Amino acid sequence: MTYRSTGEIVSYHAHVYFDPGTSRGKAERLRAGVADRFRVRLGRWHDVRVGPHDAAMFQIAFEVALFDRLVPWLMLNHEGLSILIHPNTTRPRRDHVEDGIWIGAKLKLHPERLPAEQDPPDEAGEPNTSPRF
Ligand code: ZN
Repeated sequence: MTYRSTGEIVSYHAHVYFDPGTSRGKAERLRAGVADRFRVRLGRWHDVRVGPHDAAMFQIAFEVALFDRLVPWLMLNHEGLSILIHPNTTRPRRDHVEDGIWIGAKLKLHPERLPAEQDPPDEAGEPNTSPRF
């Protein structure tokens, strides 16, 4: 067995899932709470299913160094929403489907809609939040 190095991880995504009819308000509060506290790149709202995702969601892209502050905050403040946190390496399908961690209930994904390989991997991108706390 050859161990993979954590140096393969270029960034992380947190996908925050919600139901547009019942839990969009919770997702809006979570998004605002993140924006007030963390320098991250918030993706746009997807009120319909996109890519490998089987529910409405928005994405938080963040730097590796932020993991140990942001992920515990999401654990305590997700209000019952499901959140998938996954690494971004050159293997997007594995990253999402096999190697991620879930906060809240685990949801279905569609791995066939993701490439097995992608080089370069997704970076966190330019932050678009201005934390106040
Ligand atoms: Zn992702």
